[in-house]
Amino acid sequence: MSGGSSFNEVFFTGVRVADSGRLGSVGAGWSVAITTLGFERAAASGGGGGGGGDLFDRLVLTARFVGRDQDPVIRQRLAAIYANGKLRALTRRRVTAAVKAGGVPGPEGSIGKLAWTEAIREMADLAAELLGPRFSADTGEWGTFAWTEFLNGVPGYRVAGGTDEIQRNIIAERALGLPREPRPS
Ligand SMILES: Cc1cc2nc3c(=O)[nH]c(=O)nc-3n(C[C@H](O)[C@H](O)[C@H](O)COP(=O)(O)OP(=O)(O)OC[C@H]3O[C@@H](n4cnc5c(N)ncnc54)[C@H](O)[C@@H]3O)c2cc1C
Repeated sequence: MSGGSSFNEVFFTGVRVADSGRLGSVGAGWSVAITTLGFERAAASGGGGGGGGDLFDRLVLTARFVGRDQDPVIRQRLAAIYANGKLRALTRRRVTAAVKAGGVPGPEGSIGKLAWTEAIREMADLAAELLGPRFSADTGEWGTFAWTEFLNGVPGYRVAGGTDEIQRNIIAERALGLPREPRPS
């Protein structure tokens, strides 16, 4: 619904891989798969070293453009998004340090990914609120229509790389030590 079309499926048939190309030990493919997913999550917490990167800067410019950048409530929401970005940057540094020390990304990847999807949802909501009807009409006016594709993409980002619910499960079970979900068996 965002207008993007970035998907394709690639099928490999009759492929043989030399044993020297095997990752992990025989029969331990699941741990290879979840390690790979852990790296994906760790990478999907939004880039940039600041409080939210380019998107945050664009949001501040948008608030300024509509004359709301001094509104205390808007400033409070911007500050929360900025703090979220800082928190994710610090969490990413923890993951990087753990990986450099020979470990694999743990539940921190889920914390970062979940915090990121919460931040982009808040950014999209705030941009829509600031712009009102101009948000969805391409009038050619600076900075207005630019948010539409982003807003439509947010639900997808909350699914890609593991849904918000799955990240919460991982945090609950692996970081907080809460009881595991009931198994069908
Ligand atoms: C924009 C985008 C890009 C993607 N890119 C890639 C890619 O490059 N490569 C790739 O392989 N895949 C990709 N995906 C697929 C993505 O990884 C999966 O869609 C995602 O992991 C969710 O899995 P699913 O679709 O099977 O949903 P399901 O697992 O069927 O989940 C359906 C719903 O049930 C909920 N749910 C499921 N299990 C539980 C549970 N145990 N507890 C609570 N709730 C639960 C989920 O939160 C969700 O709301 C992409 C998806 C999107 C949207």
